[in-house]
Amino acid sequence: MNKIGILTCSNTTQELGCSSYLCFQDFNEASGAFKRYAELSDKTVIAGIINCAGCPTAHAPEKLLGRIKSLTEIGVSAIHLATCVTLLCPFKERYLNILKNNFPDIDFIEGTHDQAPGITPEMFIGAMKHMLTQPKPSISNIIKKTVKRA
Ligand code: SF4
Repeated sequence: MNKIGILTCSNTTQELGCSSYLCFQDFNEASGAFKRYAELSDKTVIAGIINCAGCPTAHAPEKLLGRIKSLTEIGVSAIHLATCVTLLCPFKERYLNILKNNFPDIDFIEGTHDQAPGITPEMFIGAMKHMLTQPKPSISNIIKKTVKRA
């Protein structure tokens, strides 16, 4: 059995609640970046999926390594950077460098699912920006009312 893993973007999964539906759909249909497994004699399974560790600052992309170990230690042969990571992440190249250096026996592959029909990468990026910048409930709304003003 060939095991693979997926790394997702915390903004899409943790902030926006993506269930990785499109990743799994394309895997189940052997489409998108998962076409490559259709011809393998070994059955391929998604053995694990994990979101990134969040913003690594400009200096600590290694922060991701602990998360990735959750996949490497279950014996995956490849880890896909989800399509959201490939389209959104400003740290992608740095992540790929440290991942390839630390796990030379694992294939790191950019992408999971194809874009949904009729949705261009620019449309996806615009929609993500819109959703991430919506006003959210905040404790500051309460605190503001309690602040004593001279
Ligand atoms: S943009 Fe990159 S570092 Fe930020 S949450 Fe997404 S994958 Fe993680």
